[in-house]
Amino acid sequence: MVLFWFRRDLRISDNAALYHALKKHKEVQPFFIFDSTILSKLENTEDARVNFIYNTIKELKSELQKLGSDLKVYYGEPAKIFTHLIHENKITHVYANRDYEPSAIIRDKSILNLLQENKAEFIAKKDHVIFDRDEVIKKDGKPYTIFTPYSKVWKAKLNSFYTRSYPTEKYMDNLKKSTPDDLISLETMNFKNSTIKAPKFNLAKELISNYRLNRDFPALDGTSKISVQLRFGTLSIRKMVQLAIQHNETWLNELIWRDFYQSILYHFPHTVGKSFKSKYDFIPWINNEDHFDKWCKGETGYPIVDAGMRELNETGFMHNRVRMITASFLTKHLLIDWRWGERYFAEKLLDFDLASNVGGWQWAASSGCDAVPYFRVFNPYLQTERFDKNEVYIKKWVPEYQSSQYPEPIVEHKMARQRAIDTYKKSLSNYK
Ligand code: FAD
Repeated sequence: MVLFWFRRDLRISDNAALYHALKKHKEVQPFFIFDSTILSKLENTEDARVNFIYNTIKELKSELQKLGSDLKVYYGEPAKIFTHLIHENKITHVYANRDYEPSAIIRDKSILNLLQENKAEFIAKKDHVIFDRDEVIKKDGKPYTIFTPYSKVWKAKLNSFYTRSYPTEKYMDNLKKSTPDDLISLETMNFKNSTIKAPKFNLAKELISNYRLNRDFPALDGTSKISVQLRFGTLSIRKMVQLAIQHNETWLNELIWRDFYQSILYHFPHTVGKSFKSKYDFIPWINNEDHFDKWCKGETGYPIVDAGMRELNETGFMHNRVRMITASFLTKHLLIDWRWGERYFAEKLLDFDLASNVGGWQWAASSGCDAVPYFRVFNPYLQTERFDKNEVYIKKWVPEYQSSQYPEPIVEHKMARQRAIDTYKKSLSNYK
């Protein structure tokens, strides 16, 4: 029996590993695991990501049923489920697309061992990114840690081979025919429906063509909002790159940042919990819990920061410019450890992706590869002046900001800026 394991590639069309499985084998059985080790760590029973995945799985199941097949869905620990599957069936091959997160690499290694012990093959393909592992590396064999040279080589290497689609539809007859079974309910897994839905994505030619002009203004619908789809693979990165090549180089660069951060995470897995530049691990954070709480709630008295945090809390999304402002504010103005902010975003963002989130946070905290220099502290007032001049975004999320109910700033800007620079400078000077 041949299995195809859906993970962060929740689509049938243009799916690399599914294509290879169907092309080579007859009777391919697709399946999905709601991983209880991950789900049990989530505190909110109305988790919007779980809800998004659940609805997508429902749609996939119905698509496969229309093709005379079905999606088998399990809930539990992957190793135990594989042990059960191996016991029940004669499994010869398992196909999946590669996942570059450290915990996923450990999981896949253990599944590979399990399958090998049972004389079955585990075949992993590249699907989540355009270039993976050692495909874009320096001449000396080391990974790039600076974006610009990485992106130059990325672009030079790109050709139609890397953006081609995988025509799974040609081989649908090779799906295993099965009688449909019921999908496990959200409640059985201790979750409920969430009111927070993924933002509607927009890939209109006009939006992509005007991306460079509009992308920094949070009040405009100037970005694509495909991050949730790319995170869970409901859209193909290859198709997005084809679109970017045709219409907008700035947008292409953003897609390359995504590949870049995946590569950094793959080559430097310690950056999940530690600074990329180790001397930044010794910054004496103040970590004031009351300030952290106010930042989380959007009650810092800085309208642009509060607007961003409230957008995040209410919708599970935040505009990129405002992600940079809120992250800079937490790590520099409040001198709170970037890991606290990273975890809060991880809990709330629908598009939470470990590589990009850690990358974005370490960029803002200056501890990352190719990060903003430590003495560059975003001025929230100037950022508002430049990117939300008429305060349209602020008024949307913080309607009371000009009234007496709105709090005073929790820290004074000039003092906080100087304090951040002095603290970083002093700490870094101890570790040459
Ligand atoms: P667009 O501007 O339309 O860009 C298209 C796609 O390019 C995005 O969907 C995304 O996949 C990719 N992209 C764009 N900007 C970046 C970037 N700076 N780094 C990496 N990829 C990028 N993105 C996530 O997908 N998940 C996260 O958890 C995440 N956390 C972040 C945390 C911080 C502190 C910062 C500063 C940025 C973070 N980003 C994250 C990157 C970026 O903010 C989002 O990808 C973007 O806002 C998503 O909106 P969009 O789809 O409209 O993007």
